[in-house]
Amino acid sequence: MKFQVVTLFPEMFEGVLGSSMMWKAQKEGLAQFELINLRDFGLGPRRQVDDTPYGGGDGMLLMIEPLVAALEFAISTARSDLVAKKPKVILMSPSKTVWNQQMAAEYAASDDDYIIICGRYEGFDARLEKFIDTKISVGQYVLTGGELPAMTVIDSIVRLIPGVLGGENSAAIESYSDGDNLEFPQYTRPEEFRSMKVPEVLLSGNHAEIAKWRQDNSQK
Ligand code: SAH
Repeated sequence: MKFQVVTLFPEMFEGVLGSSMMWKAQKEGLAQFELINLRDFGLGPRRQVDDTPYGGGDGMLLMIEPLVAALEFAISTARSDLVAKKPKVILMSPSKTVWNQQMAAEYAASDDDYIIICGRYEGFDARLEKFIDTKISVGQYVLTGGELPAMTVIDSIVRLIPGVLGGENSAAIESYSDGDNLEFPQYTRPEEFRSMKVPEVLLSGNHAEIAKWRQDNSQK
């Protein structure tokens, strides 16, 4: 699965995509990441990417020309073994449909590749919507740019690609994997910390009892 991210701040992704499970997924060829700097597609000698909104208003908007040029570049460098297949184009946006675990699972199970466009400033020229397949919001609040949302979405998808997490079951029985249930509480050593004890049943070795306790203690 390949992710191409169009952003003004590619360096923001280095730590997240270069560490832990995201790093492992790349190393094992389960996910590929390509960062495309929107600035490279800016207009004129100053590589301008933003301008003031028609009709007035505070702030700047990302201009349509650099965005579409970057998008078309991304499409042209999509995976060569999938030339016939266009990657799905996602725009990060504080829209009303909010990303969730079921969507992450559907994306992880698909054989699609994704181009993710990160907005900045006041957003983007609305004509960009003609070029995208879907908008994704990470919540009903406004962030400074689409980079943190893009990293959130990528992480939530990639960790569900089979083979990325260690135990194959670790994603199957966690919060939201089954509707809106939350995972049961878990404990590790020591057995007692500042008079707080690990529930006896978890130390019992009785698998049926443990399973029942966990079922009863999952938060609905
Ligand atoms: N003026 C816009 C907000 C722009 S924030 C408005 O009022 O709706 C700048 C960019 O950050 C957005 O274009 C989007 O790409 C990204 N962004 C901000 N909040 C987001 C969220 N909750 N989910 C996804 N992307 C978000």
